[in-house]
Amino acid sequence: KVRNAHEPEFLQAVYEVAESVVPFSEKNPKYKINKILERMTEPERVIIFRVPWLNDKGGVEINRGFRVQMNSAIGPYKGGLRFHPSVTLSVLKFLAFEQVLKNSLTGLPMGGGKGGSDFDPKGKSDAEVMKFCQSFMTELYRHVGADVDVPAGDIGVGAREIGFLFGQYKRIKGEFTGVLTGKGNEWGGSLIRPEATGYGVVYFVQEMLKARGDVLKGKTVVVSGSGNVAQYTVEKCIEEGAKVVTLSDSEGFIYDPEGIDTAKLRFVMELKNTQRGRIKEYAEKFGCEFFPGQKPWGIKCDIAFPNATQNELDDTDARVLIDNGCICVAEGANMPSTPEAIQVFEQAKILYAPGKAANAGGVAVSGLEMSQNSLRYSWGREKIDDKLKSIIQQIHESCVKYGTEEDGYVNYEKGANIAGFVKVADAMIAQGIV
Ligand code: NDP
Repeated sequence: KVRNAHEPEFLQAVYEVAESVVPFSEKNPKYKINKILERMTEPERVIIFRVPWLNDKGGVEINRGFRVQMNSAIGPYKGGLRFHPSVTLSVLKFLAFEQVLKNSLTGLPMGGGKGGSDFDPKGKSDAEVMKFCQSFMTELYRHVGADVDVPAGDIGVGAREIGFLFGQYKRIKGEFTGVLTGKGNEWGGSLIRPEATGYGVVYFVQEMLKARGDVLKGKTVVVSGSGNVAQYTVEKCIEEGAKVVTLSDSEGFIYDPEGIDTAKLRFVMELKNTQRGRIKEYAEKFGCEFFPGQKPWGIKCDIAFPNATQNELDDTDARVLIDNGCICVAEGANMPSTPEAIQVFEQAKILYAPGKAANAGGVAVSGLEMSQNSLRYSWGREKIDDKLKSIIQQIHESCVKYGTEEDGYVNYEKGANIAGFVKVADAMIAQGIV
């Protein structure tokens, strides 16, 4: 705690895991004796670097770049890059720590890492984003590689940024390798990767509902965010017959009581991915209400998907959701619920899926992209979607195995933490004190 005193998000993520893993280690002393949790909470390596670039007016801009290489016990470091002004070392350490357990849960051979910058792509021209990405990769390239560390996208890093980063890596190294995932389909990307996180979180909810003899069809759903994860959550919900009534961004949320249909979703995708506009334009276009500065948790729903960012849902929001009849919360984002909110969900014994289990579909398909790159081959859409579904089913089973309590309630948080921990811990013990 003293060593990381100025890292609140990292401490929050570690405490949340320690609550399940410490009692488990007490019962399985080999983990305690080998100080596995203590070792897992210290990154193997952190790289911090200067990112200078020229804006369109010819002025010099400086940002800070990071890569946290957290754990490589079960495979090369793997995890996204985030470009957002709120990025700090604490935020990236929390994300990297969560990523280690998440990647382990997928069953694929991937260690955990995370990186990014306090650069804000919002309001920047394509040329400025390109210059920033090139400068960022000019330093990062020496620390990553297809068998070393394979970054991907996250908040503020989508197809455009991955393209610029990949182009610069290829130019410096003079080789075409799978050093990043989330690449375009024509140049080494995998089908279903853009959809994978959003689809995966919906598949996870379907597994949870199925275990209670329930289905997604006919349910009312609220979603926060309107980026990659939110968009494909909505797409899959529509396909499965659920009604999605909200989307948000950092300026507020829209409430469409009629439900977001496929045509409206196409508008959102064009608005957010191409025009880089604001979600309030949805309200103007379709004549529904926009709530500035607010989050959508007050809207009555059966299922909530917090899909924007960390700590966006607190205990007051959690109580409102439950009072309004919400039966399930599944995290598309990483750590969107505060510890107090999680307590409210678990006390009410509603279905609660933590991000490291529910949103693992994205990194799982990134893992499949790495496999396809190694094979120099591309699999078809159906094959990848089937693999994604079976990985999500297997994560659900692992959560049930380690998280079922005496009264039959499945504590998915505990289940995900322990299941993710065991595999990494066993590999660390086998590899000695390194
Ligand atoms: P995007 O950048 O595509 O979208 C992010 C969305 O969240 C935007 O609507 C953005 O609004 C909103 N948002 C971001 N920061 C804030 C903030 N501080 N306050 C309010 N709203 C905010 O990112 P993704 O959809 O890729 O990521 C969303 C979440 O999902 C993150 O927690 C990420 O770590 C997690 N995740 C993503 C995966 C992926 O494959 N992409 C995989 C697993 C998890 P605005 O445009 O106004 O900033």
